[in-house]
Amino acid sequence: MFVGVGAARVRDMFGQAVQKAPCIIFIDELDAVGKTRGSNPVGGHDEREQTLNQLLVEMDGFDANTGVIIMSATNRPETLDPALLRPGRFDRQIVVDRPDLNGREAILVIHSKSVKLDENVNLKSIAAMTPGFVGADLANIINESALLAARRSKDKVGMSEIEEAIERVMAGLEKKKRLINKQEKEIVAHHECGHALVASSLKTTDKVKKISIIPRGVAALGYTLQLPTEDRYMMTRGELTDRISVLLGGRIAEEIIFNEVSTGAQNDLEKASDIARRMVKYYGMSEKLGIVTFEPESKPAFMGFGMGSNKEYSEETAREIDIEVKKIIDDVYVKTREILEKRKPMLVKLSKMLMEKEVIEGEELKKILNDEIDEKTDATKVN
Ligand code: ZN
Repeated sequence: MFVGVGAARVRDMFGQAVQKAPCIIFIDELDAVGKTRGSNPVGGHDEREQTLNQLLVEMDGFDANTGVIIMSATNRPETLDPALLRPGRFDRQIVVDRPDLNGREAILVIHSKSVKLDENVNLKSIAAMTPGFVGADLANIINESALLAARRSKDKVGMSEIEEAIERVMAGLEKKKRLINKQEKEIVAHHECGHALVASSLKTTDKVKKISIIPRGVAALGYTLQLPTEDRYMMTRGELTDRISVLLGGRIAEEIIFNEVSTGAQNDLEKASDIARRMVKYYGMSEKLGIVTFEPESKPAFMGFGMGSNKEYSEETAREIDIEVKKIIDDVYVKTREILEKRKPMLVKLSKMLMEKEVIEGEELKKILNDEIDEKTDATKVN
């Protein structure tokens, strides 16, 4: 007797929204209704799917002028039905990641408003002590420290209470958090430092803003953040090979230090091969194949059919393209390996620091990278 209730409610919600426009519909925990259809092994056409279908229908029936904005939140974007993520449904996807140093400070300011703080409390330094903490953890710290202060019959929360609270929250967090073992941490640290050192050695690459070995997201164990100094619409061959060089840097650093490679570089290698392939196929940047493009760029593949069927070159050429792509990567590899061999002492030093601090960023990173370059005379300075 309840079949269709969910769908009817969705219809009703959108009906109300249109009447009350302008307004915002916010659906929290979207994955509860938005899970991939057909994922239920028992029966295909269950109530949840009907609800989701109705939601999709309603979202399509919308135009920009109705004055209704639909927002939703989820912690598990990977389980959502692909139809929900298609353009025209949710136009923007915003990743709300773990906050960085400034973010943590801002969150601490908000949560500490309801608590009396001693003058010696420095929120910035607390933010620096808590990499990887999310908003709820930081709220918890303030709460714990207030309890500690009350227990000690103090009328204000001091730095000592906050530090103790951090330790308590951390001990609780460690069990919850994904554990990286020491060896993994070492590999990740050297890998990320490899990216950063290569990027700082090359002239055309974007500035390295931050290196981190705090795990985030589903797959990334660490990351190197490069920020472009300007928007780019065109790139030279040198710039493209420099990009490949930075991507290979992580893998090569692992090779140099451990004489062994890990699976951590898969995404880097994919991206590097993709750039090299584009250089050969679209941009005519291969000497051997010449100034020819072999495929119109980004031809949409309809439902995965017809892929490769409209190839405009022979098997022979396809083989030559593969060889040229490999040649580009190999050349860059040799160059990149040279850079990192030369800077090996720096690689070791920086990785050790990164393992201790977990995040190195901003001025500090710039200073470290520049210090070493000052010792050498031939290298360019990092901005
Ligand atoms: Zn990498």
